[in-house]
Amino acid sequence: MDGTAPPRQHERPVVVVDDEPFVLRLLTHQLQQAGFTRVSGHTASLEGLAAVRAHSGHDALLLLDLQMPDLDGIEFMRQLARDGFDGELVLVTGEHRRIVQAAIRLARAHGLRMLDALAKPVAREALAALLRRPPTPAPHGAMADETPPWMNASEVERALSKGELFAEFQPKVTLAEGRFVGVETLLRWQHPQHGVLMPDRFVPFAERAGLVPQLTRRVLELALSQMQAWDTAGLRLQVAVNISMDDLDDLEFPDLVAETAERHGGALTRLVLEVTESRLMRNPLRAVDALGRLRLKRVSLSIDDYGTGHSSLSQMRDLPFDELKLDRSFVQDAPSRPDLRCILESTLNMARTLELHTVAEGVETREEWRLLQRLGCDTAQGWLVGRPMAAAGLPAWRAQWATRWPALAAG
Ligand code: C2E
Ligand code: CA
Ligand code: CA
Repeated sequence: MDGTAPPRQHERPVVVVDDEPFVLRLLTHQLQQAGFTRVSGHTASLEGLAAVRAHSGHDALLLLDLQMPDLDGIEFMRQLARDGFDGELVLVTGEHRRIVQAAIRLARAHGLRMLDALAKPVAREALAALLRRPPTPAPHGAMADETPPWMNASEVERALSKGELFAEFQPKVTLAEGRFVGVETLLRWQHPQHGVLMPDRFVPFAERAGLVPQLTRRVLELALSQMQAWDTAGLRLQVAVNISMDDLDDLEFPDLVAETAERHGGALTRLVLEVTESRLMRNPLRAVDALGRLRLKRVSLSIDDYGTGHSSLSQMRDLPFDELKLDRSFVQDAPSRPDLRCILESTLNMARTLELHTVAEGVETREEWRLLQRLGCDTAQGWLVGRPMAAAGLPAWRAQWATRWPALAAG
């Protein structure tokens, strides 16, 4: 927004994108009848995208047909996310419920403000009811960007130079035996004025500002020095670190990883790098180069947030990943949704065929735990097992887990 008051509902710009001229005319007409004065309709996706861009910052409303010949709805949403589209999105579609649900999940994962989906043909009353709803906030999904207004590059640079960044570790256990096998390293920022900041509030900014390589360097230091401390204490753990696509753009990244591990006497075979699936393919050639070299160094590579992005398992077959990390939205909805359970099951089966190790994140309930165990998922991570914690908290957690897990196993 540009600081002025938000437009009244009827003055909001509305963009309708549908390749069927009849549907387009009907929707445009219905919107005008509902009192909207700034409605533009487009039968071509690219033209629609340009119209949306022209309304950037004005809380536009976009009605988007999923099935389009030039740029389909999924590609369109990806582009909206890249543009940082701040308006509301309504999908208009004749597709099967499952496809629509998948599209809605994807929109939310992209951090888009998804209002709802309307089935074609659109009934006047359904549209009117939708338009009466209060505005939706941006979702707090994996990619929702909560960058605070005071954030800038020199803040991040100071954090790096003053050592304000620290790591928490979240335990991972095997589902079959409850064995404590590893941790995921999660970055936090102890800000002198704003308290402890979670990564959603600064990682997206760092990505935009090109500061991710420095952050990753720090996280690798924190993770590998901690691995060394655990090794000394007789605790052999796998340590996972989140990396960004930007890291893989640097052809020397694999050497940096190896050099850091060596300096700390850390084992590359127990280092896992988690890469977010949706950001995977931006620069395929360089990424494949870096990923290939990391695998040659025996670093494990995990596809993070699997189930929210756009890559398919068959695409993964050609990349040297050895672990699939199922997104928590996948995990948390599965016990109550037979369709998702079915997808989860076939994903786990395919992962097995491709010899990928499987980790489920965001396990919060016994139902989720049991389902994952029954479906043969290898490892679980989530609040049910343990929250992210300081390294010093792990021994107490471990002792407590040893007493807690038999009850889970007994069901
Ligand atoms: P992620 O890789 O998907 O990490 C898992 C997130 O889910 C963590 O949030 C974790 O605290 C949270 N979580 C774990 N178990 C549960 C659960 O049972 N229920 C729920 N609701 N949440 C759970 P966190 O620490 O806020 O991290 C958010 C994201 O920030 C991470 O998502 C990751 O993409 C990114 N991130 C974290 N650390 C780093 C880092 O060092 N470098 C980079 N590039 N990104 C990082
Ligand atoms: Ca992760
Ligand atoms: Ca995730």
